[in-house]
Amino acid sequence: MIRTVDAAKVSDTVAKLCVEANFKAPKDVVDALARALRAERSPLGKDILRTLRENIRIAAADKVAMCQDTGMAVVFLEVGQDLHVAGGALAKAVNAGVRKGYAEGYLRKSVVDPLTRANTGDNTPAIIHTEIVPGRLLRITVAPKGFGSENMSAIRMFNPTVSRDQVEEFVVGCVRDAGARPCPPTVVGVGIGGTFEHAALLAKKALLVPLGEKQARADLAAVERSLLAKINALGIGPGGLGGATTALAVRALAHPTHIAGLPVAVNICCHALRHASAVL
Ligand code: SF4
Repeated sequence: MIRTVDAAKVSDTVAKLCVEANFKAPKDVVDALARALRAERSPLGKDILRTLRENIRIAAADKVAMCQDTGMAVVFLEVGQDLHVAGGALAKAVNAGVRKGYAEGYLRKSVVDPLTRANTGDNTPAIIHTEIVPGRLLRITVAPKGFGSENMSAIRMFNPTVSRDQVEEFVVGCVRDAGARPCPPTVVGVGIGGTFEHAALLAKKALLVPLGEKQARADLAAVERSLLAKINALGIGPGGLGGATTALAVRALAHPTHIAGLPVAVNICCHALRHASAVL
């Protein structure tokens, strides 16, 4: 039987998630920062990590954004195939929610026309990724993305003969070239396989995998471990001021690809790895 959800309910939920994501860091990020603080040996690096934790605490307690760049709203929708949204178009409802959330939360409006650079004034349109899934539920994840880190993203279409070392060097090179610009410590999302655009989406989705969650594939887990060790050996450190915590984690997702290629995408996120979810 088809279940109905009102478009207004979608808008209200998206609005709440925009505010929640910007005010409250996810627990896995808070825990990862605590682990990094225990492990970091650089006194300056430790100071930066302490300051970041304090910033997160104040943002949640005082209900203010944890960073001035409150991001472009990236919204993932998992829509049950037996669910009907009534009272308006789904994308319109999501954008109405972003408009409301960014206004009510006093969040910075950062979205501009790409040619004229004129601000749209309400942080819309959101970037909406919709997936049809079995069931009657609607899962909404709002992941505001700042562009200090988004600008450090890259994709390369490798030849299938590429070695694992060369792929890893590409990823590590992205982090090395980014330096302090993505506000380290970062989380590095890596998408391997698929097509050009799918690899980029995998890299973005990889950032949403809980930091403590076990990687399902043993070979991918080995890639993540190797990359994290190489990245943290760069010495960029918290705030780019030196130390062993350049990245809190590397998360990778893979998808089958074509015999003639190997797309690899890197999407870097700062420590403000904001995301909040709800199920309707
Ligand atoms: S990279 Fe992250 S922490 Fe740095 S300014 Fe952008 S959103 Fe804020």
